[in-house]
Amino acid sequence: MTTVGDVGDASDVEHVEEVRPGWELAGAADGFERLWTPHRLAYLSGENKPADDGAGSQCPFCRAPGQDDETGLTVARGEHAFVVLNLYPYNTGHVMVCPYRHVSLYPDLTAEETLEVAELTKTAMRVLTDVSGCQGFNLGMNQGSVAGAGIAAHLHQHVVPRWGGDANFMPVVGRTKVLPQLLGDTRSLLAEVWPKA
Ligand SMILES: [Zn+2]
Repeated sequence: MTTVGDVGDASDVEHVEEVRPGWELAGAADGFERLWTPHRLAYLSGENKPADDGAGSQCPFCRAPGQDDETGLTVARGEHAFVVLNLYPYNTGHVMVCPYRHVSLYPDLTAEETLEVAELTKTAMRVLTDVSGCQGFNLGMNQGSVAGAGIAAHLHQHVVPRWGGDANFMPVVGRTKVLPQLLGDTRSLLAEVWPKA
């Protein structure tokens, strides 16, 4: 069965909960491994599924900057754009760079927004490399629902760190991503290393 070490290098896992010996706790061991995925509960209960009213009132990318960094999972704030963790990450450290403005299409960004989205993307790559030792990235924007955008009304640039062997059988056969670090811990780690303005 899979272990934390199967996803990327064990060396990129900064914080692993201490596992208490089973004999201290109630229950009987059987032949199964358990994979705890508390982040799935938010997904299953439909949190953050916006009904787009055009004004962004239900939009998670409009809502996040109004919350404190820990609650909104915000990693860094610029003048025109900000960096936030993806609640449904493809990989540990999957961040998104978004303009504050509720705008859908890349050509509609102002020059200032375009520049800052690009600069924050570069900084995110440096920080993720420093913190996690990732070996590559997938960068990109899905423009429009037809292209795969989950929240098409508010542009977001994905920055997904990659490690050799991070795509194992779990997502292919089991449609399950194994994520060895909780989002709050990832956010703190990135925010700590993010260069101060
Ligand atoms: Zn929005």
